[in-house]
Amino acid sequence: MKRKSIRFAINELAVLPLICLGLLILVVSIPVIYGAIGSETEDGLKNLSHALLEKCNVWENGDYSLENGVMCKGGVPLGEDYYIVDSVKDVSGIDATIFWGDTRMLTTVRTENGERVVGTKASEKVVHKVLEDGEDYFSESVLVNDVSYYGYYTPIRNSDDSVVGMVFVGKSRERVVNAIFHVVFRVLIVAMVVTAVTLLVSLQYAGWMINSLSKTREFLGNAAQGRLECQIDGELIERPDEIGDMARSAQALQKSMLKLIGTDPLTGLYNRRNCTEALNHAMREYCENGKTYMVVIGDIDDFKHLNDTYGHPAGDQVLRELSEIFRSYMRKKGVAARWGGEEFLFIYNEEQGALQELEHMMEKIRGTQICYKEQKINVTMTFGAAVCEEGDTTDSLIKRADDRLYFGKANGKNQIVSE
Ligand code: GH3
Ligand code: MG
Ligand code: MG
Repeated sequence: MKRKSIRFAINELAVLPLICLGLLILVVSIPVIYGAIGSETEDGLKNLSHALLEKCNVWENGDYSLENGVMCKGGVPLGEDYYIVDSVKDVSGIDATIFWGDTRMLTTVRTENGERVVGTKASEKVVHKVLEDGEDYFSESVLVNDVSYYGYYTPIRNSDDSVVGMVFVGKSRERVVNAIFHVVFRVLIVAMVVTAVTLLVSLQYAGWMINSLSKTREFLGNAAQGRLECQIDGELIERPDEIGDMARSAQALQKSMLKLIGTDPLTGLYNRRNCTEALNHAMREYCENGKTYMVVIGDIDDFKHLNDTYGHPAGDQVLRELSEIFRSYMRKKGVAARWGGEEFLFIYNEEQGALQELEHMMEKIRGTQICYKEQKINVTMTFGAAVCEEGDTTDSLIKRADDRLYFGKANGKNQIVSE
Protein backbone atom coordinates (compact mmCIF):
# COMPACT_ATOMS: atom_id res chain seq x y z
CA MET A 1 0.00 0.00 0.00
CA LYS A 2 1.37 3.39 -0.99
CA ARG A 3 2.11 5.42 2.11
CA LYS A 4 0.49 8.84 2.23
CA SER A 5 1.42 11.28 4.96
CA ILE A 6 -1.48 12.66 7.00
CA ARG A 7 0.44 15.96 7.13
CA PHE A 8 0.14 16.13 3.34
CA ALA A 9 -3.56 15.22 3.44
CA ILE A 10 -4.40 17.84 6.10
CA ASN A 11 -2.42 20.53 4.30
CA GLU A 12 -4.21 19.62 1.09
CA LEU A 13 -7.50 19.93 2.93
CA ALA A 14 -6.55 23.37 4.24
CA VAL A 15 -4.98 24.77 1.05
CA LEU A 16 -7.34 23.62 -1.72
CA PRO A 17 -10.59 25.19 -0.43
CA LEU A 18 -8.76 28.45 0.26
CA ILE A 19 -7.30 28.66 -3.23
CA CYS A 20 -10.73 27.81 -4.69
CA LEU A 21 -12.35 30.47 -2.50
CA GLY A 22 -9.75 33.06 -3.59
CA LEU A 23 -10.36 32.25 -7.26
CA LEU A 24 -14.13 32.33 -6.76
CA ILE A 25 -13.93 35.78 -5.13
CA LEU A 26 -11.95 37.02 -8.13
CA VAL A 27 -14.21 35.45 -10.76
CA VAL A 28 -17.34 36.81 -9.09
CA SER A 29 -15.95 40.22 -8.19
CA ILE A 30 -14.56 41.21 -11.62
CA PRO A 31 -17.96 41.29 -13.46
CA VAL A 32 -19.65 42.83 -10.42
CA ILE A 33 -17.04 45.61 -10.23
CA TYR A 34 -17.18 46.05 -14.02
CA GLY A 35 -20.98 46.39 -13.95
CA ALA A 36 -20.97 48.74 -10.93
CA ILE A 37 -18.37 51.11 -12.36
CA GLY A 38 -20.10 51.00 -15.78
CA SER A 39 -23.50 52.01 -14.39
CA GLU A 40 -21.92 54.63 -12.11
CA THR A 41 -20.18 56.12 -15.18
CA GLU A 42 -23.49 56.14 -17.09
CA ASP A 43 -25.22 57.97 -14.21
CA GLY A 44 -22.44 60.52 -13.96
CA LEU A 45 -22.43 61.16 -17.72
CA LYS A 46 -26.22 61.50 -17.80
CA ASN A 47 -26.16 64.15 -15.06
CA LEU A 48 -23.31 65.99 -16.74
CA SER A 49 -25.02 65.87 -20.12
CA HIS A 50 -28.24 67.33 -18.68
CA ALA A 51 -26.26 69.97 -16.79
CA LEU A 52 -24.52 70.99 -20.05
CA LEU A 53 -27.89 71.13 -21.86
CA GLU A 54 -29.27 73.29 -19.07
CA LYS A 55 -26.25 75.56 -19.39
CA CYS A 56 -26.99 75.96 -23.12
CA ASN A 57 -30.72 76.50 -22.53
CA VAL A 58 -30.12 79.43 -20.17
CA TRP A 59 -27.49 80.96 -22.44
CA GLU A 60 -29.93 83.42 -23.98
CA ASN A 61 -33.71 83.62 -24.46
CA GLY A 62 -34.93 82.35 -27.81
CA ASP A 63 -34.41 79.37 -30.06
CA TYR A 64 -31.28 77.71 -31.34
CA SER A 65 -30.19 78.63 -34.86
CA LEU A 66 -27.25 78.40 -37.23
CA GLU A 67 -26.06 81.77 -38.41
CA ASN A 68 -23.11 82.05 -40.78
CA GLY A 69 -21.94 78.58 -39.68
CA VAL A 70 -22.08 79.57 -36.00
CA MET A 71 -24.50 77.95 -33.56
CA CYS A 72 -26.52 80.59 -31.74
CA LYS A 73 -29.11 80.75 -28.97
CA GLY A 74 -31.53 83.66 -29.16
CA GLY A 75 -29.30 85.03 -31.90
CA VAL A 76 -26.21 85.05 -29.65
CA PRO A 77 -23.33 82.67 -30.51
CA LEU A 78 -23.11 79.78 -28.02
CA GLY A 79 -19.97 79.82 -25.95
CA GLU A 80 -17.08 82.31 -26.11
CA ASP A 81 -14.05 80.54 -27.49
CA TYR A 82 -15.48 77.11 -26.60
CA TYR A 83 -15.83 78.22 -22.96
CA ILE A 84 -19.14 76.36 -22.56
CA VAL A 85 -17.56 72.94 -23.35
CA ASP A 86 -14.05 73.64 -22.00
CA SER A 87 -15.45 74.51 -18.56
CA VAL A 88 -16.97 70.98 -18.43
CA LYS A 89 -13.62 69.40 -19.31
CA ASP A 90 -11.71 71.63 -16.86
CA VAL A 91 -13.96 70.73 -13.93
CA SER A 92 -14.53 66.99 -14.60
CA GLY A 93 -11.88 65.92 -17.13
CA ILE A 94 -14.72 64.69 -19.33
CA ASP A 95 -15.00 65.59 -23.00
CA ALA A 96 -18.04 67.55 -24.13
CA THR A 97 -19.50 68.36 -27.55
CA ILE A 98 -22.44 70.42 -28.82
CA PHE A 99 -23.92 69.36 -32.16
CA TRP A 100 -26.01 71.31 -34.65
CA GLY A 101 -27.90 68.48 -36.23
CA ASP A 102 -25.30 65.72 -36.63
CA THR A 103 -22.34 68.14 -36.95
CA ARG A 104 -19.90 68.91 -34.12
CA MET A 105 -19.94 72.70 -33.57
CA LEU A 106 -18.24 73.08 -30.20
CA THR A 107 -16.08 70.30 -28.77
CA THR A 108 -13.21 69.55 -26.43
CA VAL A 109 -12.18 66.48 -28.48
CA ARG A 110 -8.98 67.17 -30.40
CA THR A 111 -6.91 65.45 -33.08
CA GLU A 112 -3.31 64.39 -32.43
CA ASN A 113 -2.25 67.81 -33.71
CA GLY A 114 -4.34 69.50 -31.05
CA GLU A 115 -7.06 70.73 -33.43
CA ARG A 116 -10.69 70.46 -32.30
CA VAL A 117 -12.68 67.94 -34.37
CA VAL A 118 -15.23 70.62 -35.31
CA GLY A 119 -17.33 69.88 -38.39
CA THR A 120 -17.11 66.10 -38.09
CA LYS A 121 -20.32 64.03 -37.98
CA ALA A 122 -22.00 61.78 -35.41
CA SER A 123 -22.58 58.14 -36.27
CA GLU A 124 -25.75 56.93 -37.94
CA LYS A 125 -26.93 55.14 -34.87
CA VAL A 126 -26.65 58.30 -32.78
CA VAL A 127 -28.44 60.33 -35.42
CA HIS A 128 -31.21 57.79 -35.52
CA LYS A 129 -31.64 57.53 -31.75
CA VAL A 130 -31.20 61.14 -30.72
CA LEU A 131 -32.08 63.33 -33.69
CA GLU A 132 -34.82 61.19 -35.24
CA ASP A 133 -36.35 59.52 -32.16
CA GLY A 134 -35.59 62.45 -29.81
CA GLU A 135 -34.27 60.17 -27.03
CA ASP A 136 -31.24 60.19 -24.76
CA TYR A 137 -28.62 57.67 -25.87
CA PHE A 138 -25.84 55.96 -23.91
CA SER A 139 -23.16 53.65 -25.26
CA GLU A 140 -20.11 51.97 -23.72
CA SER A 141 -18.34 52.24 -27.01
CA VAL A 142 -18.65 55.48 -28.99
CA LEU A 143 -15.89 56.12 -31.50
CA VAL A 144 -14.87 59.80 -31.71
CA ASN A 145 -11.72 60.68 -33.58
CA ASP A 146 -10.64 57.00 -33.36
CA VAL A 147 -10.89 57.06 -29.56
CA SER A 148 -13.43 54.81 -27.84
CA TYR A 149 -15.68 56.54 -25.26
CA TYR A 150 -18.34 55.80 -22.70
CA GLY A 151 -20.66 58.46 -24.16
CA TYR A 152 -24.03 60.05 -23.34
CA TYR A 153 -26.09 62.09 -25.82
CA THR A 154 -29.08 64.35 -25.03
CA PRO A 155 -31.19 66.07 -27.72
CA ILE A 156 -31.31 69.88 -27.96
CA ARG A 157 -34.82 71.15 -28.62
CA ASN A 158 -36.30 74.45 -29.73
CA SER A 159 -39.47 75.92 -28.23
CA ASP A 160 -41.59 74.04 -30.82
CA ASP A 161 -40.07 70.80 -29.46
CA SER A 162 -38.19 70.10 -32.68
CA VAL A 163 -34.76 68.48 -32.20
CA VAL A 164 -32.08 70.72 -33.71
CA GLY A 165 -28.95 69.25 -32.21
CA MET A 166 -27.54 67.35 -29.29
CA VAL A 167 -25.19 67.50 -26.35
CA PHE A 168 -22.53 64.83 -25.86
CA VAL A 169 -20.35 64.07 -22.85
CA GLY A 170 -17.88 61.17 -22.93
CA LYS A 171 -15.24 59.52 -20.80
CA SER A 172 -12.56 57.60 -22.65
CA ARG A 173 -12.90 53.81 -22.27
CA GLU A 174 -9.26 53.67 -21.35
CA ARG A 175 -9.93 55.77 -18.24
CA VAL A 176 -12.95 53.66 -17.22
CA VAL A 177 -11.10 50.38 -17.78
CA ASN A 178 -8.15 51.72 -15.78
CA ALA A 179 -10.50 52.58 -12.93
CA ILE A 180 -11.98 49.06 -13.08
CA PHE A 181 -8.55 47.45 -13.00
CA HIS A 182 -7.51 49.73 -10.17
CA VAL A 183 -10.40 48.44 -8.03
CA VAL A 184 -9.95 44.82 -9.18
CA PHE A 185 -6.25 45.05 -8.35
CA ARG A 186 -7.05 46.22 -4.82
CA VAL A 187 -9.62 43.43 -4.40
CA LEU A 188 -7.01 40.99 -5.71
CA ILE A 189 -4.40 42.21 -3.21
CA VAL A 190 -6.89 42.03 -0.30
CA ALA A 191 -8.05 38.54 -1.42
CA MET A 192 -4.44 37.38 -1.67
CA VAL A 193 -3.51 38.77 1.75
CA VAL A 194 -6.61 37.24 3.39
CA THR A 195 -5.96 33.90 1.64
CA ALA A 196 -2.30 33.94 2.66
CA VAL A 197 -3.10 34.77 6.30
CA THR A 198 -5.84 32.12 6.48
CA LEU A 199 -3.51 29.67 4.81
CA LEU A 200 -0.75 30.36 7.32
CA VAL A 201 -3.17 29.98 10.25
CA SER A 202 -4.52 26.72 8.77
CA LEU A 203 -1.05 25.34 8.13
CA GLN A 204 0.06 26.34 11.63
CA TYR A 205 -2.97 24.63 13.15
CA ALA A 206 -2.46 21.54 10.98
CA GLY A 207 1.20 21.55 12.07
CA TRP A 208 0.23 21.56 15.77
CA MET A 209 -2.26 18.77 15.21
CA ILE A 210 0.22 16.67 13.27
CA ASN A 211 2.96 17.23 15.85
CA SER A 212 0.60 16.00 18.55
CA LEU A 213 -0.25 12.95 16.45
CA SER A 214 3.46 12.33 15.81
CA LYS A 215 4.22 12.49 19.55
CA THR A 216 1.44 9.98 20.28
CA ARG A 217 2.70 7.73 17.48
CA GLU A 218 6.26 7.99 18.83
CA PHE A 219 5.06 7.08 22.33
CA LEU A 220 3.09 4.07 21.05
CA GLY A 221 6.07 3.04 18.90
CA ASN A 222 8.34 3.08 21.97
CA ALA A 223 5.81 1.07 23.96
CA ALA A 224 5.44 -1.41 21.08
CA GLN A 225 9.20 -1.94 21.11
CA GLY A 226 9.15 -2.68 24.80
CA ARG A 227 10.36 0.72 26.07
CA LEU A 228 7.47 0.94 28.50
CA GLU A 229 9.14 3.48 30.78
CA CYS A 230 8.86 6.19 28.11
CA GLN A 231 6.82 9.24 29.10
CA ILE A 232 4.05 10.79 27.05
CA ASP A 233 4.08 14.58 26.56
CA GLY A 234 2.12 16.28 29.38
CA GLU A 235 0.53 18.81 26.99
CA LEU A 236 -0.94 15.96 24.96
CA ILE A 237 -2.66 14.51 28.01
CA GLU A 238 -4.17 17.95 28.75
CA ARG A 239 -5.64 18.37 25.25
CA PRO A 240 -9.46 18.52 25.42
CA ASP A 241 -10.00 17.00 21.96
CA GLU A 242 -9.87 13.58 20.23
CA ILE A 243 -6.08 13.70 20.06
CA GLY A 244 -6.08 14.18 23.86
CA ASP A 245 -8.44 11.17 24.15
CA MET A 246 -6.03 9.12 22.07
CA ALA A 247 -3.05 10.19 24.20
CA ARG A 248 -4.92 9.36 27.42
CA SER A 249 -5.88 5.94 26.02
CA ALA A 250 -2.25 5.33 25.03
CA GLN A 251 -1.16 6.25 28.55
CA ALA A 252 -3.82 3.96 30.07
CA LEU A 253 -2.61 1.18 27.76
CA GLN A 254 0.94 1.75 28.96
CA LYS A 255 -0.19 1.53 32.60
CA SER A 256 -2.10 -1.72 31.94
CA MET A 257 0.90 -3.21 30.16
CA LEU A 258 3.24 -2.18 32.96
CA LYS A 259 0.88 -3.72 35.49
CA LEU A 260 0.60 -6.90 33.45
CA ILE A 261 4.30 -7.42 32.95
CA GLY A 262 5.14 -6.42 36.51
CA THR A 263 2.59 -8.63 38.27
CA ASP A 264 2.77 -12.31 39.17
CA PRO A 265 -0.37 -13.96 37.73
CA LEU A 266 -0.79 -16.57 40.51
CA THR A 267 -0.53 -14.27 43.53
CA GLY A 268 -1.16 -10.80 42.10
CA LEU A 269 2.00 -9.56 43.87
CA TYR A 270 4.82 -7.68 42.16
CA ASN A 271 6.99 -10.08 40.16
CA ARG A 272 10.77 -9.99 40.04
CA ARG A 273 10.74 -7.24 37.37
CA ASN A 274 8.77 -4.72 39.45
CA CYS A 275 10.50 -5.87 42.60
CA THR A 276 13.89 -5.01 41.09
CA GLU A 277 12.60 -1.53 40.26
CA ALA A 278 11.29 -1.08 43.80
CA LEU A 279 14.70 -2.20 45.17
CA ASN A 280 16.51 0.32 42.93
CA HIS A 281 14.10 3.05 44.02
CA ALA A 282 14.70 2.28 47.71
CA MET A 283 18.47 2.34 47.16
CA ARG A 284 18.23 5.72 45.40
CA GLU A 285 16.19 7.11 48.32
CA TYR A 286 18.87 5.84 50.71
CA CYS A 287 21.76 7.32 48.72
CA GLU A 288 20.07 10.68 48.06
CA ASN A 289 18.02 11.23 51.24
CA GLY A 290 19.57 8.78 53.73
CA LYS A 291 16.31 6.83 54.16
CA THR A 292 17.36 3.47 55.62
CA TYR A 293 15.23 0.46 54.74
CA MET A 294 15.11 -3.29 55.38
CA VAL A 295 15.07 -6.10 52.84
CA VAL A 296 13.71 -9.52 53.79
CA ILE A 297 13.72 -12.77 51.82
CA GLY A 298 11.16 -15.31 53.02
CA ASP A 299 10.93 -18.93 51.91
CA ILE A 300 8.17 -21.43 52.68
CA ASP A 301 9.47 -24.33 54.75
CA ASP A 302 9.30 -27.83 53.25
CA PHE A 303 7.13 -26.70 50.36
CA LYS A 304 8.21 -29.60 48.21
CA HIS A 305 6.93 -31.94 50.88
CA LEU A 306 3.66 -29.95 51.06
CA ASN A 307 3.21 -30.31 47.31
CA ASP A 308 3.97 -34.02 47.51
CA THR A 309 1.52 -34.52 50.37
CA TYR A 310 -1.48 -32.39 49.30
CA GLY A 311 -0.89 -31.94 45.58
CA HIS A 312 0.33 -29.07 43.42
CA PRO A 313 -3.06 -27.24 43.33
CA ALA A 314 -3.03 -27.21 47.14
CA GLY A 315 0.48 -25.73 46.98
CA ASP A 316 -0.88 -23.01 44.66
CA GLN A 317 -3.68 -22.26 47.12
CA VAL A 318 -1.09 -21.91 49.90
CA LEU A 319 0.89 -19.44 47.75
CA ARG A 320 -2.28 -17.40 47.10
CA GLU A 321 -3.42 -17.26 50.72
CA LEU A 322 0.03 -16.41 52.05
CA SER A 323 0.19 -13.62 49.47
CA GLU A 324 -3.04 -12.16 50.90
CA ILE A 325 -1.39 -12.07 54.32
CA PHE A 326 1.74 -10.43 52.86
CA ARG A 327 -0.39 -7.84 51.10
CA SER A 328 -2.32 -6.89 54.20
CA TYR A 329 0.72 -6.83 56.52
CA MET A 330 2.83 -4.82 54.08
CA ARG A 331 0.12 -2.23 53.30
CA LYS A 332 1.57 1.26 53.84
CA LYS A 333 4.84 -0.27 55.07
CA GLY A 334 6.49 -1.24 51.81
CA VAL A 335 6.47 -3.82 49.06
CA ALA A 336 5.84 -7.58 48.96
CA ALA A 337 6.92 -9.43 45.81
CA ARG A 338 7.17 -13.00 44.54
CA TRP A 339 10.91 -13.35 44.12
CA GLY A 340 10.65 -16.82 42.57
CA GLY A 341 8.96 -20.21 43.25
CA GLU A 342 8.05 -20.21 46.96
CA GLU A 343 10.41 -17.36 47.81
CA PHE A 344 9.18 -13.84 48.57
CA LEU A 345 10.99 -10.55 48.95
CA PHE A 346 9.82 -7.72 51.23
CA ILE A 347 11.02 -4.13 51.34
CA TYR A 348 10.24 -2.24 54.55
CA ASN A 349 10.50 1.46 53.69
CA GLU A 350 11.26 2.38 57.33
CA GLU A 351 13.92 0.45 59.15
CA GLN A 352 12.51 1.42 62.53
CA GLY A 353 9.96 -1.12 63.80
CA ALA A 354 10.40 -3.26 60.69
CA LEU A 355 11.58 -6.35 62.59
CA GLN A 356 8.58 -6.24 64.93
CA GLU A 357 6.28 -5.90 61.92
CA LEU A 358 7.96 -8.93 60.36
CA GLU A 359 7.51 -10.91 63.58
CA HIS A 360 3.79 -10.06 63.60
CA MET A 361 3.49 -11.31 60.05
CA MET A 362 5.36 -14.53 60.90
CA GLU A 363 3.04 -15.10 63.87
CA LYS A 364 0.05 -14.64 61.61
CA ILE A 365 1.43 -17.22 59.16
CA ARG A 366 2.08 -19.69 61.96
CA GLY A 367 -1.48 -19.26 63.23
CA THR A 368 -3.16 -19.58 59.83
CA GLN A 369 -4.73 -22.82 58.68
CA ILE A 370 -5.12 -23.00 54.94
CA CYS A 371 -8.10 -25.01 53.75
CA TYR A 372 -7.99 -26.90 50.52
CA LYS A 373 -10.73 -29.43 49.71
CA GLU A 374 -11.41 -30.22 53.36
CA GLN A 375 -7.71 -30.51 54.08
CA LYS A 376 -6.24 -28.18 56.67
CA ILE A 377 -2.69 -27.16 55.94
CA ASN A 378 -0.26 -25.43 58.30
CA VAL A 379 2.79 -23.66 56.94
CA THR A 380 5.80 -21.93 58.39
CA MET A 381 8.35 -19.70 56.76
CA THR A 382 11.98 -18.79 57.34
CA PHE A 383 13.09 -15.17 56.84
CA GLY A 384 16.51 -13.58 56.33
CA ALA A 385 16.49 -9.80 57.01
CA ALA A 386 19.12 -7.14 56.28
CA VAL A 387 19.12 -3.36 56.81
CA CYS A 388 20.97 -1.28 54.23
CA GLU A 389 24.31 0.05 55.35
CA GLU A 390 26.88 2.44 53.99
CA GLY A 391 28.63 0.97 50.96
CA ASP A 392 25.80 -1.45 50.22
CA THR A 393 24.53 -2.10 46.73
CA THR A 394 21.17 -3.73 46.03
CA ASP A 395 23.03 -6.99 45.25
CA SER A 396 25.10 -6.94 48.44
CA LEU A 397 22.01 -6.23 50.54
CA ILE A 398 20.06 -9.10 48.94
CA LYS A 399 23.04 -11.43 49.38
CA ARG A 400 23.21 -10.60 53.09
CA ALA A 401 19.47 -11.32 53.49
CA ASP A 402 19.82 -14.52 51.42
CA ASP A 403 22.77 -15.73 53.51
CA ARG A 404 20.73 -15.21 56.67
CA LEU A 405 17.79 -17.11 55.16
CA TYR A 406 20.15 -19.96 54.31
CA PHE A 407 21.45 -19.87 57.87
CA GLY A 408 17.88 -20.02 59.22
CA LYS A 409 17.06 -22.96 56.95
CA ALA A 410 20.14 -24.79 58.14
CA ASN A 411 19.34 -24.10 61.77
CA GLY A 412 15.80 -25.28 62.34
CA LYS A 413 13.73 -23.13 59.90
CA ASN A 414 10.50 -21.30 61.04
CA GLN A 415 12.40 -18.24 62.28
CA ILE A 416 13.72 -14.78 61.42
CA VAL A 417 17.47 -14.32 61.11
CA SER A 418 18.50 -10.67 61.14
CA GLU A 419 22.14 -10.76 62.26
P1 GH3 B 1 13.06 -25.65 52.25
O1 GH3 B 1 12.33 -25.75 53.54
O2 GH3 B 1 14.52 -25.95 52.38
O3 GH3 B 1 12.80 -24.44 51.54
O4 GH3 B 1 12.52 -26.85 51.39
P2 GH3 B 1 11.51 -26.71 50.18
O5 GH3 B 1 10.93 -28.03 49.90
O6 GH3 B 1 10.56 -25.64 50.44
O7 GH3 B 1 12.46 -26.27 49.04
P3 GH3 B 1 12.77 -26.86 47.63
O8 GH3 B 1 13.58 -25.84 46.92
O9 GH3 B 1 13.33 -28.22 47.76
O10 GH3 B 1 11.38 -26.98 46.90
C1 GH3 B 1 10.62 -25.90 46.49
C2 GH3 B 1 9.40 -26.41 45.83
O11 GH3 B 1 8.49 -25.40 45.55
C3 GH3 B 1 9.67 -27.13 44.56
C4 GH3 B 1 8.63 -26.61 43.59
O12 GH3 B 1 7.91 -27.64 42.96
C5 GH3 B 1 7.71 -25.84 44.44
N1 GH3 B 1 7.13 -24.76 43.76
C6 GH3 B 1 7.76 -23.72 43.16
N2 GH3 B 1 6.87 -22.91 42.57
C7 GH3 B 1 5.63 -23.44 42.77
C8 GH3 B 1 4.30 -23.05 42.40
O13 GH3 B 1 4.06 -22.02 41.73
N3 GH3 B 1 3.26 -23.83 42.81
C9 GH3 B 1 3.48 -24.96 43.56
N4 GH3 B 1 2.42 -25.64 43.92
N5 GH3 B 1 4.71 -25.35 43.89
C10 GH3 B 1 5.79 -24.60 43.53
MG1 MG C 1 11.19 -23.70 50.65
MG1 MG D 1 13.18 -22.15 47.96
